[in-house]
Amino acid sequence: MPKTIILTLSFLLFSLFSFSQKKQICITIDDLPVVSYGITDIQYQTNLTADLLAHLKQKKIPAIGFVNEMKLFPNDNFTKDQVELLKMWLNAGQELGNHTFAHKDYNNTPFKEYAEGIVKGEKITKKLLEESGKKMEYFRHPFLHLGLTKEKADSLSTFLFEHGYTVAPVSIDNDDYLFALAYHRLLAKNDKKTADKLGEDYLKYMEEKLLFYERQSEKLFGKNISQILLLHANKLNADFLGKLSDVYLKHGYEFVSMEKALKDPAYQTPITKYGRYGISWIDRWALSAGKTGDFFKGDPESPEYVKQLAK
Ligand SMILES: [Zn+2]
Repeated sequence: MPKTIILTLSFLLFSLFSFSQKKQICITIDDLPVVSYGITDIQYQTNLTADLLAHLKQKKIPAIGFVNEMKLFPNDNFTKDQVELLKMWLNAGQELGNHTFAHKDYNNTPFKEYAEGIVKGEKITKKLLEESGKKMEYFRHPFLHLGLTKEKADSLSTFLFEHGYTVAPVSIDNDDYLFALAYHRLLAKNDKKTADKLGEDYLKYMEEKLLFYERQSEKLFGKNISQILLLHANKLNADFLGKLSDVYLKHGYEFVSMEKALKDPAYQTPITKYGRYGISWIDRWALSAGKTGDFFKGDPESPEYVKQLAK
C-alpha cells in the first residue's frame, strides 16, 4: 500500500478515535449514609437514599459513596437502620469507600489519631463490600485536607498505600453543602417557592463550576481531564441529581467509575505544595506548578442569598 494511503488511513482512524472519545466525569457522594441536618426519621433518610440511587440508576451513573461509620452509631448506639442505607447503595450496584470514622480534620488531628480513624472507619463497610463481592479500595480525605506539610501528607499517603487504599481525588470542588443547608432550611419553613428557585440556581452554579474547571484543566494540561465531581448525600441532590446529570450530558460527558477516571495520566501529576486549603486537585497541581494569582481567577461563587440562608 502506498505510504500516503497508509498515512491517510491512520489519520482517519485517529480522528474517528478522538471523535468517539467523550468527555468523562465521575460522580462521588460524600458523608454517607446520609446528610440529613438532624432529621433522624429513618423513613425520611431511606427515601432520600432511594431518590439519590434512582437518579444514578436512571442516568446509568457508576458512582461511589464515601462513608463515615460514626453515623452508624447515633448516640453511641449501633443501629442497623443506618447499615440498611449502605446496603441500598451496594444493592444498587454502586461503590463505597472510606471517609474516616468521625470526619476528623487532618489539619488539626495528629497523624496517629487520624490513622486510627481510618481503620475504625472501615470495619462495617469493608464487610458489606465483601458480602457483595467487592473490595474496599478508595479513600476520600474529609474537608479535602491532605496534610499541612509534606511530611504529614507523606505519612498519610504511605499509611493509605500500606492499607491498600487509593486516594479518591476531586477535580470539581464546589459548595453543594451550602446550597443543601439553605435548601433544608427553606423546606423546613415550607418555603417551597424559594427552595425551587434555589434548586435552579444550584444547577446554574454547578454548570459554571464545570466550565471553570474545564478551562483550568485546559490551561494546565492543554486538554480536559477526566473530571471527578464531589457531591454530598443530602436532600438537595436527592431532588436535583437527575437535572444535574443532564447538565453534564448536555456538555458531552459520559459518566465513568472512579477506576476509569483515574486512568487519566493527569492524576499522576505530583503535588508539591501544601497548606490549610481543601481544594480541587487541579488547583493543587496548579499551585505545585508555581501558578499564582490570575491563574485562579473566575472561580464561580455561590449567590449571596444562599450564603445568608446557610449562615
Ligand atoms: Zn465529608
